[in-house]
Amino acid sequence: MRLYLIIILSIITLSCNNKKQELNLLSQDRAYNGPIIDMHIHVDKPEDLPPFSLSLCPPFSNLIEHFDPINEFEDVWNEKFNNPDCENPLVSPKSYQDYQQRIEKQLKQNKVIAVASGAFEDIVKWKLEYPKQIIPSLEFRIGRDSISPEQMKTILIDNDIKVIGEISNQYFGIAPNDPRMFPYYKMAEELDIPVAIHLGSGIPGTPYMGYPKYEAKLSNPLLLEDVLKRYPKLRVSIMHYGEPFIDELITMLYHYPQVYVDIGGIQWAYPKEYFYEYHLKKIVVAGFGKRIMYGSDMIIWPELIEHSINIINDAPFLSYEQKADIFYNNASRFLRLNPRQN
Ligand SMILES: [Zn+2]
Repeated sequence: MRLYLIIILSIITLSCNNKKQELNLLSQDRAYNGPIIDMHIHVDKPEDLPPFSLSLCPPFSNLIEHFDPINEFEDVWNEKFNNPDCENPLVSPKSYQDYQQRIEKQLKQNKVIAVASGAFEDIVKWKLEYPKQIIPSLEFRIGRDSISPEQMKTILIDNDIKVIGEISNQYFGIAPNDPRMFPYYKMAEELDIPVAIHLGSGIPGTPYMGYPKYEAKLSNPLLLEDVLKRYPKLRVSIMHYGEPFIDELITMLYHYPQVYVDIGGIQWAYPKEYFYEYHLKKIVVAGFGKRIMYGSDMIIWPELIEHSINIINDAPFLSYEQKADIFYNNASRFLRLNPRQN
């Protein structure tokens, strides 16, 4: 009798364990299919688009595997976009209409609401055209955008703009803790409007291609420490998560619990195995899965949105729930889209 009971109990326990394992496997295998918030797309005006199609074979990091400075880097780089050497390159739109239609298709097909960064007139236009898909975000760079904090405040309020970003001072060699930014941070804190700051890699060879003042060392998230102490109520998203300063990022997420990150294109800028193993997994395992937000960094290739979504969905170590956090819940909480969330 006792032996019989032990056998029954063992069978029940085994089948429970099997079910648990099955459930885990299922949730890990399942692609997330709910709504998505893309924290990082760019919207351009017609004259910003290249006049010819450019073909991209991601990832960026090994697009030029080696380079002899006897050549001009810009020429070598551009050549790759004229003569792609992968099977299915992403091809940039031939016209503005094509660009708009393909972005619209990507947003609708993938159930994406996009925080769209751009110049004031562009984001207002896109918001009017796609009110359900676009959250306008005012881009800003000292030296390029001559606008005072007071003027910015008026623009933000009058046009119901939800985010200040992409703040791209790094392209001009200006650190996130540059005192010239303080009045803008102060205004954002008072208005309770989040800021999204570019900290991380631009395209390979950025200093040789139009941005001689770009400084890679300014990607370091530790540079935000002064800002977060001075403006403790400021909501901050680190765009590109300060890549590749991953340990510095971890300590910032640990010490400053209000800080969020967006993965902004790094998932396709490097081979995904590298992104998974050394960055995404590290942030999740360290305990910060509730502060990672999805972002595609779509610039001129609309299909990068889907490509970027697939990379997150393919991450072998993420459960369905963790994917839902990255794709939607975390950004929704950060942006306060649903006031009932906590
Ligand atoms: Zn950026």
